[in-house]
Amino acid sequence: MSTAAPAHANHAAVSRTASGRIFNFSAGPGCLPEEVLAQVQKDVFNIAATGIGILEHSHRGKAFDRVLAEAMHDFRAISNLPENYHVLFMTGGASSQNFLVPANLKPQDQPADYITTGYWAEKSLEHARPYGVLHEAATSKDRNHSYIPADGQARYSQAPAYVHFCSNNTIYGTQWHKADAAGACTWHQRDPVAPPGVPLVCDMSSDIYSRPVDFTRYGLVYAGAQKNLGAAGTTLVVIRDDLASRKVRELPWLLRYETFAKDESRPNTPPVFAIHICGLVFKWILSHAQPGRHCLDVIHERNIRKAGHVYQAIDSSGNFYRGHADKNARSLMNITFKCPTPALDDAFCSQAAAQGLDGMKGHRSTGGMRASMYNAMPEDGCKALAQFMKDFAARNG
Ligand SMILES: *Cc1c(COP(=O)(O)O)cnc(C)c1O
Repeated sequence: MSTAAPAHANHAAVSRTASGRIFNFSAGPGCLPEEVLAQVQKDVFNIAATGIGILEHSHRGKAFDRVLAEAMHDFRAISNLPENYHVLFMTGGASSQNFLVPANLKPQDQPADYITTGYWAEKSLEHARPYGVLHEAATSKDRNHSYIPADGQARYSQAPAYVHFCSNNTIYGTQWHKADAAGACTWHQRDPVAPPGVPLVCDMSSDIYSRPVDFTRYGLVYAGAQKNLGAAGTTLVVIRDDLASRKVRELPWLLRYETFAKDESRPNTPPVFAIHICGLVFKWILSHAQPGRHCLDVIHERNIRKAGHVYQAIDSSGNFYRGHADKNARSLMNITFKCPTPALDDAFCSQAAAQGLDGMKGHRSTGGMRASMYNAMPEDGCKALAQFMKDFAARNG
């Protein structure tokens, strides 16, 4: 494979992974582990020596039975999920959970509370409107979603059906973190302090399994697979027993969590390919375990190092780069920043792409740049980006 830089690349070498691909900082679908992609290619042709590819097997046959059982098992193993939680593979993207959550969990005249810390959290509130009374308990809109509200800032309603929040704000680049006793960021997840007995519902689409997680703190968690778990086409839902069987209104059979919980996520043909890719990613996550160290601790530590390279490049640039997020709310997954002018932002994105650092353009609501560094982004990609940032600032500062 040729590694020659394109003519417009400013005579710098193109950054590539060991196997010759470039680094993909896209916010979603995001990059996948190369080991997983290599295995998927084989399985499309012939899975588990069955002589048939994964795309062609019946979703009720033995080959897919095994794929599904292993994916469920491995997902549970990663987080040591207790028996009273179901793992569902659903469709319709994370966005469909915006209406499925209130449709299944919220009576029309009982409020549900939302904490709106970004674009997707705002969509969650907006799409719940058909299901009656809603309450915005806290928001970070006043400062363009550059921070996460402190515990005391939330004002909950009397008896909400649930409290909904989003753990990582993919577009604005903020994330919920706990502080230690001295007030320093631990990079471990903080949750809203919901009123006693009220279940937390969390959209974890862009940071699930990027750090240790205790699902028992939530009533329901959902995540579109295409950021940290696999490919577009399936959405993971982790739901507690009592919520899976909550019945607050008549709903079509296929819109009920209970249907998916009872029927192993295959009441009808499930997204078999997307589920298979998730299964391979779960095995890849588990493979990070080391003697005495949990796989998610290893991955979390690497994610802290990865983001550290890029944040350091921002902080040491003498104000050339300005990060969007407050320091104690910085995301480990999506780093948002700007150059001194929009013209430099454009130059940054095109020159970065020419050097094998792709997908850096920020969302239209923030502008500037966004580097998404999900679990599958190699640390070398983050180092290459940090180096490019330093070089670009030196050339243009
Ligand atoms: C990407 C994303 C979504 C939307 O996901 P779809 O699967 O496209 O519906 C929702 N929430 C968050 C936090 C996201 O990052």
